[in-house]
Amino acid sequence: MVRQLSEAGLKTLAIRARFASGVEKQILKVTFLPKLPLPRGKLTQSRDLSNLTWLGVGGPADYFFQPEDESDLANFLRDLPQEVAIFPMGVGSNLIVRDGGLRAVVIRLGRSFNQVIIKENKVSAGAAALDAMVARKSAEAGVDLTFLRTIPGSIGGAICMNAGCYGSYISDHFVKARIVTREGEVLTLMADDICFGYRQSNLPHGSVVTAAVFESSLEDPQVLADRMSVQLKKRSESQPTKDRSAGSMFRNPAGFSSSGQADDIQDLKAWKIIDDAGMRGARFGGAQISKKHSNFLINTGDATASDLEGLGELVRKRVFNQSKIELEWEIMRVGEPCSDDT
Ligand SMILES: Cc1cc2nc3c(=O)[nH]c(=O)nc-3n(C[C@H](O)[C@H](O)[C@H](O)COP(=O)(O)OP(=O)(O)OC[C@H]3O[C@@H](n4cnc5c(N)ncnc54)[C@H](O)[C@@H]3O)c2cc1C
Repeated sequence: MVRQLSEAGLKTLAIRARFASGVEKQILKVTFLPKLPLPRGKLTQSRDLSNLTWLGVGGPADYFFQPEDESDLANFLRDLPQEVAIFPMGVGSNLIVRDGGLRAVVIRLGRSFNQVIIKENKVSAGAAALDAMVARKSAEAGVDLTFLRTIPGSIGGAICMNAGCYGSYISDHFVKARIVTREGEVLTLMADDICFGYRQSNLPHGSVVTAAVFESSLEDPQVLADRMSVQLKKRSESQPTKDRSAGSMFRNPAGFSSSGQADDIQDLKAWKIIDDAGMRGARFGGAQISKKHSNFLINTGDATASDLEGLGELVRKRVFNQSKIELEWEIMRVGEPCSDDT
């Protein structure tokens, strides 16, 4: 049953939910989901997210919204009560969604947001376009965004995370992005408007990137194709690309990791200190630290989000005991644990 709540009703709900037991929480969730604006796109209630994340885990989103186009998204966000949380999701390649799911409207952009247009050395891409496709199409047109070829995310996720590898980062090529703010306003952000850091950016809270423009150098398409083949080979030799993972589990320790700045040294790797703490191959439930690359957390088949996060936390503890370094998660962990875990 869905019924509309006033602002006061939503606040009361938040207070009641804070003090509710596990079972009561479930009842509150089913009974008091606020009525949402009616979009042109697809709005689904209680959508399981596990098959939308690379790790294959996670509970349901209260709501799951696939906008028809940018104006549908903007109108929806404008009319959505500001108290309702939203979570923009790319293709889930950097996420652990916890087993209890997300108390939010998860927004996932679809086909109408994945166009790629190339003019000279500028590449315009929709936020749902896959990094690999953008790299390939750019290379065919002679534009070097080859570093994106082996990153399995979408352009929206790449901007949010300042994705990078082989010495290049999104921030090195970023010209501008279109976003829809939480209030439903469509804005263009230029490079100076966003502060990019190592695997992070400061996009306005609750905003959804819908498209972006990048630029890069022009090169012979064959040279670019060969470069991508080498990178793919390198990846599959050094990383568990066939296992279910979310890429690097932890950032390389601060002060030792690449921020994309030339003066930043990169000689201490998370995988090395995890190895030194004896955690390569460690298991917890269905979760395992990859034997091939010890900064990769993998789902061996039946892991829960709680197994994966629990093993990651155990690694952090062991590393701290061994080397006094506090590892920071690179994988984003979102949502609530199952009521059984609390
Ligand atoms: C095998 C493997 C290898 C990887 N290698 C690399 C690597 O070399 N370098 C690297 O940087 N990363 C790597 N990753 C991690 C991951 O691919 C990147 O972080 C990627 O950019 C995430 O994109 P996504 O679309 O999957 O985003 P998601 O995982 O879905 O989301 C990540 C974050 O982006 C936000 N987000 C997504 N879309 C939007 C949007 N449209 N608007 C606003 N916010 C949005 C989400 O809210 C979330 O905060 C790897 C992952 C895997 C599984």
